[in-house]
Amino acid sequence: MFKNLRELITSMPDEKTCRDYVIKERWNGVISCPYCGCERVTVIEGGKRFKCNHKDCRKNFSCTVGTIMEASKIPLTKWLTAIYLITAHKRGISSYQLGRDLGISQKSSWFMLHRIREMLRIKEDVVLGESQPVEADETHIGGKFANMNNAKRKKYNEIGNPLENKTTVLGMIEREGNLVAKVVNNSRIAIPKSIAETVKLNATLITDSSNLYNRIAHGYDYHAVNHSIQEYVRGNAHTNTIEGAFSHLKRMVIGTYYQISSKHTQRYCDEFAYRFNSRKIKDADRFTLTMGRIAGRLTYKALIAATVPKEITLTEKPANRNKGVIQLLDGEIIGQYSSTKQAAKITGFSRTNIAKVCKGIRKSAGGYDWIYA
Ligand SMILES: [Zn+2]
Repeated sequence: MFKNLRELITSMPDEKTCRDYVIKERWNGVISCPYCGCERVTVIEGGKRFKCNHKDCRKNFSCTVGTIMEASKIPLTKWLTAIYLITAHKRGISSYQLGRDLGISQKSSWFMLHRIREMLRIKEDVVLGESQPVEADETHIGGKFANMNNAKRKKYNEIGNPLENKTTVLGMIEREGNLVAKVVNNSRIAIPKSIAETVKLNATLITDSSNLYNRIAHGYDYHAVNHSIQEYVRGNAHTNTIEGAFSHLKRMVIGTYYQISSKHTQRYCDEFAYRFNSRKIKDADRFTLTMGRIAGRLTYKALIAATVPKEITLTEKPANRNKGVIQLLDGEIIGQYSSTKQAAKITGFSRTNIAKVCKGIRKSAGGYDWIYA
């Protein structure tokens, strides 16, 4: 029908053609009442509106009732152009730019963009890790801090908590597949919970060595890459895919939206993930796909999956993954154990005390010094 923005505008130059297009995309020939679902509907006002014939309903409605465009004074021609622009532009479009492009106020275009983002939100259950490994990582969005290099960041760390006013975003990505980006307010609880909800049980899961992932590691074929010792790639265990996606997300935020309010970060993540996950299809096809979502219809099968992941129970406390214990006397290694439990069993000293020494809470246990391996 159309292959680009210019063809979209020429093929649907006025309200009537746009309305016919929306009606076709929304109902595909069988118009049903958005209030009661009844399909006995009469066309009124020369095709502009419809009247429900159900005896208990009898409501009038237009093709935008129940969609993101409901009760909007902005004409459909502008709505369709806006939807095309936001879904086609790799880094999105600011409300200022859209306002100028469409000849409407920035306030109007700001509302439009947020409504469109609502449409782009994936409301279905997404399952990652059916066949490919899943990489998970977290990032902080907002302010200048996201832009800083490590040295500068370190300097800021000394001044105060630089993560204040930042929003933490958890990204989960299946290699060659889809991205899910979620705002997590309480990382310690929300990160393991979101992974358990999104990544298939027993799938291969790769993260950095942050202990945020300890509580769910047992549910997966789990690999951690230790960035703090400059270990970035170990065979197939790397987090390059998610880091690449995050760098695109950050460029979108910095380049197009400058500063985003933490309240709306999830919407920007949704917008980004939607374009990212449909990156292999053409702009015009992505537009058609998006129009299929105006009434919440499910259309893009690749964005969704058939099954809901099984529940993974979170362990009470993070497991001390890879925490071997070394027993020392006057700085000399006396023994090494796989865990505090094993150390306690073999030496007969209190496990709690050994752990306390490792954490620096206690000076010695059983006359020995203890450190984590
Ligand atoms: Zn009705």
